[in-house]
Amino acid sequence: MHRVLGEIGFYITQLLSGHGEFEAYLQRIGRRASPLCRCCDLEDSVEHTIYQCQRWDVVKQDVGLSWLSPEETVPYMLIGRAEWDKVLQLATSILKTKAREAREWDGA
Ligand SMILES: [Zn+2]
Repeated sequence: MHRVLGEIGFYITQLLSGHGEFEAYLQRIGRRASPLCRCCDLEDSVEHTIYQCQRWDVVKQDVGLSWLSPEETVPYMLIGRAEWDKVLQLATSILKTKAREAREWDGA
């Protein structure tokens, strides 16, 4: 089990579980006062971050996943290694940036 999770990885786990750098989740566990996205004042869920927030449109374009929807994500990842890696790249890029920004805001 641990080996499988290790292969899935930290950022893919956040993407699939919604437990991670999402304000709504962080509020639920008592680490944020507000569940809202810091850029557009909508509730910041995994769906908002990965699929809706315009903030990350450029990242999605760069990776070639502008079209990605929640329903298509897992089937797409399971096509093969290249597809898996694209989703991994997308999740890593977005969630790393969010984590870094959150540290900056918290430290301010
Ligand atoms: Zn947003």
